[in-house]
Amino acid sequence: MITPSTTSVCESIWQQVLDKLQNDIPASRFDAWIRPVVPEINNQALLLKVSNRFFLDGLKSSYGQQILDAVQAISGSDMEVRFTVDPDLEVAAEALTEQKAHDAGRITVDGYIDPRFTFENFVVGSSNEFCHAASRAVADKPGEIYNPLYLYGGVGLGKTHLINAVANALIAKDHTRIAYRTGERFTNELIQAIRAGSTEEFRNQYRKVDVLIIDDIQFIAGKDRTQEEFFHTFNALHEVKKQIILTSDRSPRELTNLMERLRSRFNWGLVADIQPPDLETRLAILASKAELAGVDLDRDVAQLLASRITNNVRELEGALTRLTAHATLTGRTIDIDFARHVLRDLLHEEVRAISVEDIQKKVASYYNINPREMRSSKRSRTLAFPRQVAMYAAKDLTTLSLPEIGEQFGGKDHTTILYAVRKIYKMRQDDDDFDDEMDRIMALLK
Ligand code: ADP
Ligand code: MG
Repeated sequence: MITPSTTSVCESIWQQVLDKLQNDIPASRFDAWIRPVVPEINNQALLLKVSNRFFLDGLKSSYGQQILDAVQAISGSDMEVRFTVDPDLEVAAEALTEQKAHDAGRITVDGYIDPRFTFENFVVGSSNEFCHAASRAVADKPGEIYNPLYLYGGVGLGKTHLINAVANALIAKDHTRIAYRTGERFTNELIQAIRAGSTEEFRNQYRKVDVLIIDDIQFIAGKDRTQEEFFHTFNALHEVKKQIILTSDRSPRELTNLMERLRSRFNWGLVADIQPPDLETRLAILASKAELAGVDLDRDVAQLLASRITNNVRELEGALTRLTAHATLTGRTIDIDFARHVLRDLLHEEVRAISVEDIQKKVASYYNINPREMRSSKRSRTLAFPRQVAMYAAKDLTTLSLPEIGEQFGGKDHTTILYAVRKIYKMRQDDDDFDDEMDRIMALLK
């Protein structure tokens, strides 16, 4: 294999640290404290460089531990991390501000758009081709065909990548003013504006744009004031044919706590869903990511990762980064044994991952009832008891919370699940025959 450069390894590790921290740190603080950090790998340690002493102290005391934890989780080892001051960065930051002021005359981008996420490095397969084509079309003719464009699907499937690709394509092309927000940031900014009595300014900044992109719009569900504000922004932009792009983890129909008038508007344009990629696409994505990272990935290793990590591209990418990091830092070749060793926790988890649906089917078949009854609320003992066994098994064999399990049993309250778990547990303790039977059922499920 070709050994990837420490620079590219460093970049991909740091990028994943950023992705992780971005979920935990409020956006404005993230932009102020985390984004300016420049990483470097030196003598097998990760060096985090900032422009001055003051910044260094603030960063370490506010986010030092979180950064260490994130690096540890991503590299899967005790990679040494050191914080240092590099005065050159101060100069670079000034130059960047000037460059930005210069660019501002040409295009306006409000919000962070990730330059890594382009159409060129998005791998198209049957699971995402519809979303991809729709995004391309919108990038070609914003405001003209699908408005709004609403992409939805599970975590780590490429929604954020696609909407950034649209933004990057528009930036490259012309004088488009783009505002990019996450649903969370939109909400927080509104709250701040209300507090500061500046809702008028808040409103106006969005009415001026040509393209408004909101990632994870599901965040505003249940927040009345935010929905109200977004509703008016939506109308104002839509009326003058400005493009609106939204992503969500659910379809508009499944977004409970969403105002009806917003739900209907989300359906005005194109609603497209993105599915987990099939094996072939996963292999192609891995190959593409490996190439970007400058790694020559063995076929067997690629096959191992792609066959085990099946429903989240971010995890697939994470596995590759960790492998590359270990290989570079230890000077070892990435072969199948090495991969198995370095990724043992990840691969193991995936093998064991068992779904509630699976449990429901198998328990239903064991008791000879229709699996649909698992989600019903009929109370006859022949149905209720198997259902309780399945609830117990779901709690024992998955990492889901009681409310999450309740959801999968047709929207039952978490207390119903808790009651079932306790009841079966107690029966197992009191009745040896039943306990043996449960052992057999549990074995069937694993
Ligand atoms: P989502 O927003 O759906 O949770 P992201 O867009 O953040 O997912 O994708 C997670 C990671 O997976 C990103 O690094 C992205 O580049 C990558 N990814 C997902 N799908 C693809 C694809 N089809 N081709 C290339 N990279 C992909
Ligand atoms: Mg996303």
